[in-house]
Amino acid sequence: MRQFLLAGMLGGLALFLSAQAQEDVLQGFTSQSSASERQWEAKFREIPDAENQREYMQRLSARPHHVGSPYDKENAEWILARYKEWGWDAHIETFQVLFPTPKERALEMVEPTKFTAKLQEPPVAVDPTSSQQSEQLPAYNAYSTDGDVTGPLVFVNYGLPKDYEELERLGISVKGAIVIAKYGNSWRGIKPKVAAEHGAIGCLIYSDPADDGYFVDNVFPKGPMRPADGVQRGSVMDFPSSGPGDPLTPGYGATAEAKRLAVKDAPSLTKIPVLPISYGDAQPLLAALSGPMAPKEWRGGLPISYHAGPGPAKVRLKVAFNWDIKPVYDVIARIPGAQEGEAWVIRGNHHDAWVNGAEDPTSGQVALLEEARALGELVKQGWKPRRSIIYASWDGEEPMLLGSTEWAEEHDKELQQHAVAYVNSDGNGRGYLNAEGSHTLEHFMNGVARDIQDPETKLSVLQRLHLRQIERARNAEDRQEIRQRPDARIDALGSGSDYTAFIDHLGIASVNVSFSGEVDEGIYHSVYDDFYWYTHFADTDFVYARALSQTIGTAVMRLADADLLPFEFNDFADTIRMYSKELKKLANDEREEAVERDKEISEGLFSAVNDPRHPEFAPPKEDVPPYLNFAPLDNAADSLTQAAQRYQTALAKASISALPAASLAELNEKLTESERHLTTEEGLLRRGWYKHMIYAPGVYTGYGVKTLPGVREAIEQKHWDEANEEIVRVSKVLQGERDLIGSAAEDLENVKH
Ligand SMILES: [Zn+2]
Repeated sequence: MRQFLLAGMLGGLALFLSAQAQEDVLQGFTSQSSASERQWEAKFREIPDAENQREYMQRLSARPHHVGSPYDKENAEWILARYKEWGWDAHIETFQVLFPTPKERALEMVEPTKFTAKLQEPPVAVDPTSSQQSEQLPAYNAYSTDGDVTGPLVFVNYGLPKDYEELERLGISVKGAIVIAKYGNSWRGIKPKVAAEHGAIGCLIYSDPADDGYFVDNVFPKGPMRPADGVQRGSVMDFPSSGPGDPLTPGYGATAEAKRLAVKDAPSLTKIPVLPISYGDAQPLLAALSGPMAPKEWRGGLPISYHAGPGPAKVRLKVAFNWDIKPVYDVIARIPGAQEGEAWVIRGNHHDAWVNGAEDPTSGQVALLEEARALGELVKQGWKPRRSIIYASWDGEEPMLLGSTEWAEEHDKELQQHAVAYVNSDGNGRGYLNAEGSHTLEHFMNGVARDIQDPETKLSVLQRLHLRQIERARNAEDRQEIRQRPDARIDALGSGSDYTAFIDHLGIASVNVSFSGEVDEGIYHSVYDDFYWYTHFADTDFVYARALSQTIGTAVMRLADADLLPFEFNDFADTIRMYSKELKKLANDEREEAVERDKEISEGLFSAVNDPRHPEFAPPKEDVPPYLNFAPLDNAADSLTQAAQRYQTALAKASISALPAASLAELNEKLTESERHLTTEEGLLRRGWYKHMIYAPGVYTGYGVKTLPGVREAIEQKHWDEANEEIVRVSKVLQGERDLIGSAAEDLENVKH
C-alpha cells in the first residue's frame, strides 16, 4: 500500500518536473531573454517589504478619505510624491463627477408601535479611528433617489426576482410597500431595482447576522464580524444597465468642461429611495411583521420568527441628498518602454474608501505601492522594460468606478491603440490566490503563480490553489478534470472593481488578483474597516500583502518584457466550449422545468397539497420553451479550438529570435487585438456601453458575471427568439477571433529558421 502510494507520488513528481522544464523558457521569450527576465524578476521579488506596507496602510487609512474629503486629496498627493520619489514620471488627472452625500436620513416605525432607527455606528474604545465621527460619511446608498415614503413593510429575502415569485405564491404583493431585503447573494443595487419593478415604494437593506455577524464569528472588537450597529455602505447606481462611471457624462470623460446631463435625467439613479441599516435597527422592524412565515431558506440569525408581512409594521423612510459635483484625483505614473514604448501595460488599484478603508482599498494599494517602489529600484539598477508601464491609483471607485471609468472613457482611442493588458487589485486578505480575468491570460497567470511562494505553506501559490480547487470540487468528475487539466482554471470577470471599463468597454485583456479565503470580513464598507481591525484580524503581518506585490509585479514585468506577448488560446477555446455546454444545459433545464410544472398544474398537484390554513397559490402555467439552435456556436467553438492548437504548435516550432523586428511588431499587434476582437461596436442589447461579447456583469446579478451574456440572459429571461439571434451574433465574433489567431499562426509558420 505504502509502496504503491510512493510510486504514484513519484509519477506525479515526474510529470510536475517535466512541466516545469517546459516552463524554463518563458512563453514569448527567447532562451536568452528568458534567462535575463528570470534574473530581474528574482531581484524584484526580494524588494517588497511588509514593514513598509504596514506603514503605508497606517498613513493612508489614518482618516476617512471618501471622494471630496480633504484626506482623499491629501492621500492622492502623498501617493504622487511617492511615485516621484521612486523615479516614476507621475501626475494627477482630475475629473468632476456627481457624488451625492446624505443631507437627511430618517427611518421610523409608525405602526403598530413606535421605533426610531439609530442609523449610527458607535465608536469602539479600543479602536482609535472609529471615533472620527465629524469626518465620517454616514451610512447610505449612493445614487439612491431622494424620497419620503410611508408604507407597510414586506420582508423579501435577498430581493432577487425568484424571491418575488415565491412571495406571489404566498399571495403577497409589494405594491405600495417598503421592502426590507438582506444584504448578500447579489450586488446590492439589484435589490431596489427589482423592488421598484414590482411596485415597491422604498427599500431597506440590512446585514443579517447569519451572513455577516455573530453567527459567523465573534463580532468586532472581540472578533472580525459585524457588530449589531455596523452598516454596509455602498453604491446602488444601476450600472449593469447604464454603465458605471459618472452618471452625468455617460460614455465620455467627466472633464471640467464636459457637457453634462441634468441630475433628473441621469438614467442610472434608483427609481425608489434606498437606505442600508444594521441588524440592530432591522430587528424591531422584522419582529413586528406578521403574515405567513417566511420560507425556511429565507430566515436569518436573529432571535425572532421571520414573517413575510405585509405589515402590520408600517414604516416611514426619508432620505435627501446633496447632489454635488466633486473632484476625483487619479494618480497616474509611468515608466517608459525601451523598445515598444507605444505598447502599454497598465496596473491599478483605487485609493478612495467609504470611510477609513484599511482593507478596502488600502490593503491592495499598499501592495501596488511596494511594486512601484521595487520597479523604480530595478530601473535604477539598469532594468529597461521593453514596453511602457503605467501605474494608476484610482479615485472614486466606491461610488461606482468613477476615476477609472472616466479615465478610460477620456483616453479610449489611445487605450484601444496602445493598451496590451490591465492588471487590477482591490484589497487583499490571506490564503489562496484568487485570479480572475481574460482566459487568453489564463495560461500566463498559471505561469506567474508557479513562481510565487505561499507565505504560510511554502508551496507555490499555484500548487496551493490547485489543491484547494480539488478540495472545493463538487464531485469526482470535477476533481478528475482539475487533476488532469494542465492549467488551473480562473474565473471570468463580472464587475465590482476598476477593471470594468478596460475589459467590458474597451476590450483590453484584464486580470484581477488577490489572496483570500482565510479572513472573515465583517467590516466591509463600515467605519470599522480600519487599521485596528486589519492589524488584529486580517493579514496582520502583511506577508500576503508582500505576496500580492510579488505576484502582480511579476505579471507586470513579464507582460512588459516578453518579446512576443504571452497570450495563449487553448485555454480560451476550452473555456468557450465549457460555456457552450453550460448554456445547453441551462436551456434544457428551463424546458424540463416548464414541462414538469405544467404537468403538475394539470394534475391538480398544487391544490391537493395546499394547507388551507397556510395557503399557497399555484405558479402560473408557462409556455414550454422551444429548442434552441446551438449549431453555429458549436461550429465556432470547434474552429476556434483548431486555430488555437495551430497557433500553439507554430509557436513551439518557431524560434522567436529568428523573427525580424517588423514581423514581431506585427504579431504583437495581432495579439493585442485578440481581446478587442471579442467586442462589437454596438455592444450588448439594451446596454450598449458593454461591448464585450464573452463577459459582462449580469443585469440581475450586478457584480456576478454572465458569460456569453447575450445568449445566457436571453435564456434566463425566456426571450427565445433573441437567444437564437444572440447565438448567431456571438458565433460570428468567435469566428473573427479564429481568423485572427489563424493569421497569427500563419505568421509564425512562415518564420525562416
Ligand atoms: Zn474597493
